[in-house]
Amino acid sequence: MPAPSAVSAARTILTRLHDVMASRSHAQAKLNQVVEIIGEGLDSEVCSIYLLREGMLELFATRGLAQEAVHVTRMAIGEGLVGTIGGNVETLNLAEATAHPDFSYRPETGEDKFHSFAGVPIVRRERSVGVLCVQHVDPRRYEEVEIEALQTVAMVLSELIANADLVDEEEVAGLSPQLSGPQRLTGLSLVKGLAVGSAVYHQPRITIEHVMAEDRDAELQRVYLAFDKMREQIDRMASQAEFGVGGEHEEVLETYRMFAYDEGWSRRIIEAIDSGLTAEAAIERVQQRTRMRMRQIDDPLLADRMHDLEDLANRLLRIVSGQMGTAASMGLRSDTILIARNLGPAELLEYDKRRLKGVLLEEGSLTAHVVIVARAMGIPVLGRVRSLRGTVRDGDQLLLDGDQGNVTVRPLPAMAEAFEARFAKSKERQAAYAALRDVEPFTRDGTRIKVMMNAGLRDDMPNLSLTGADGIGLFRTEFQFLVSATLPARERQTRLYRDVLDAAGDKPVVFRTVDIGGDKVLPYLRHNDGEHEENPAMGWRALRVALERDGLLKVQARALLEAAAGRTLNVMFPMVSEPWEFDAAREVFESQRKYLKGQKKLLPEAIRYGAMLEVPALAEQLDVLAPRLSFLSIGTNDLTQFLFAADRSHTKLAERYDWLSTSIMRFLKRVQLSLVGHSVDVTVCGEMGGRRLEALALLGIGIRRLSITPASVGPIKELVRKIDLAEITAAMNQWLSAPPPNLREALTRWAEERGIEIE
Ligand code: PEP
Ligand code: MG
Repeated sequence: MPAPSAVSAARTILTRLHDVMASRSHAQAKLNQVVEIIGEGLDSEVCSIYLLREGMLELFATRGLAQEAVHVTRMAIGEGLVGTIGGNVETLNLAEATAHPDFSYRPETGEDKFHSFAGVPIVRRERSVGVLCVQHVDPRRYEEVEIEALQTVAMVLSELIANADLVDEEEVAGLSPQLSGPQRLTGLSLVKGLAVGSAVYHQPRITIEHVMAEDRDAELQRVYLAFDKMREQIDRMASQAEFGVGGEHEEVLETYRMFAYDEGWSRRIIEAIDSGLTAEAAIERVQQRTRMRMRQIDDPLLADRMHDLEDLANRLLRIVSGQMGTAASMGLRSDTILIARNLGPAELLEYDKRRLKGVLLEEGSLTAHVVIVARAMGIPVLGRVRSLRGTVRDGDQLLLDGDQGNVTVRPLPAMAEAFEARFAKSKERQAAYAALRDVEPFTRDGTRIKVMMNAGLRDDMPNLSLTGADGIGLFRTEFQFLVSATLPARERQTRLYRDVLDAAGDKPVVFRTVDIGGDKVLPYLRHNDGEHEENPAMGWRALRVALERDGLLKVQARALLEAAAGRTLNVMFPMVSEPWEFDAAREVFESQRKYLKGQKKLLPEAIRYGAMLEVPALAEQLDVLAPRLSFLSIGTNDLTQFLFAADRSHTKLAERYDWLSTSIMRFLKRVQLSLVGHSVDVTVCGEMGGRRLEALALLGIGIRRLSITPASVGPIKELVRKIDLAEITAAMNQWLSAPPPNLREALTRWAEERGIEIE
């Protein structure tokens, strides 16, 4: 039988459900009628409703399964297909239920003869309060349209369940975890820093009063108006973006605008209204679907874009329901720590910067737009914090530690005092580092160390003068690609590079050509012909991509050459593995230079070419490459992962191998020595250079240039000024020729004996 359209299937069912809902019958009787209606509507022999009771999903009503099983069959969350749907808040659609690994046979139900199975969660407050499922004798997968109808019906059921008090609200709200006394929650540090404040939920929960529409046209009218209003708001926000034009935020808002005007999205909402839902329920319905899809998406970048869409859906919901206020518009407390499942960048921008001290997210990732915005605002963010809603009440005191990745909820006075003391100390330290801004980092025995900073966004540039760094030793140009919804056009690249050079003034900037691929996947650039990579870090990335897609590199070369007209251009190639790759990349730049010369364009005064040493093989050919290099930058993040064969983003390996190992230090020293006598500047630009003990060791093996995260510039300058270079060089020489059992310990002792702070 051809599947009916989702709209008409859902509409037929909803019309019949409407009468049931309006009737005065008992809740159980209503559920019994509901399973009949849905079973008939979807032409399914079986339709069952399971509801959450005392932590178990209990069969409350069924058509087609044995009636004796009602209120007898119970599944734990995560148990069997029903428990899996409830636990994961996900839909299952199976042609053969028994083939699924989670299938759990319940003989009392008499379900042996049914093969196909589809189930959807019944969701309330983003948690499953039940499961609605259908089964069929034929082994067939249900059509997408049927699943959608099922999901729509599940929404209506959630209203019925709430009105009839069929499930325990306390249980749903997750009130079981302690809501009193101190708690510590851990998360992922997305923006570092400390904050003390009161918990404020970004969104006072919007309660959807009615799910089923009385008047379809009126609902359509309401949603059309809401769309207009939302688009107006986004356009206004884009024109008033507080970070000025041309920044990453402009691109963020552009992505936003794209979604706001997305026809597919509005069409789906209209279809849901057509099937009989109210405007609010239709928006929520589409949002639920988006959320479910998002969970299935592995690509973090794409998932971030989906969050933008959710941000807009929330906005639309607020407009349509008239429950307009987010916490941003409700008179914010002076020390607010904002809590949200996730936030869109535009939502964050609505907050008063002076009152907002920190952000806690249940989701969130390092590359999310909102994190970029928060970083620009200087607000610490902790992401992936679990059980926030179950643990934190509005107004609770919070100690947010973005450095160590945790938050203390309702701290005891002693905890708050200790935190405040740390906070004060960190502020003091920041002030002391800031005071070093104009102080040149000379070692005690008079060697000038170059302390530069790493950057990648326009918003990073003010840090150059704030920290007094000697320049930008690594500008990661791929960041612009990562925050764009589409491949940045040449003009846009030129604008960024020129702004960066302008902001740097006399200080040098080293631009690294795009290092995409590996973990930095661009959804709009299928660089590997869509092939799955087993080891992306060792795969089709960086210069390997750029040399094949030379259009990409050519555009970037033109943009850099034009941006650096009349100045020195420092350009560096990532992941060079063999000298010919460097030559080929250089040739792309040189031919663009010739072209521009032919066009009588103003050219850079000089071009300095450099390579990154990240692949150990290149170390064996540095003598070959050195005469062609102006500089070499050692990317220890990648280099060490390759030396140890240990994935740099693997959490289990994160602490296993030490940067301060004899192997790494000997390797780096050999690299450094092999370039003595060549006029090649050698810099270390990996994260290790920003740690004091590691920096000490690097200075001890002859490294004189570091490029590090801006927050480390002050601490490293301070360290440099306390060191006697001859002394640490002698110590390192000795340790590398006769290694101590633990180099880190030896260095720590050495520093302590000299009163040099290492943290
Ligand atoms: C490195 O690998 O050390 C480096 C600086 O580059 P990235 O961290 O961007 O890979
Ligand atoms: Mg690298």
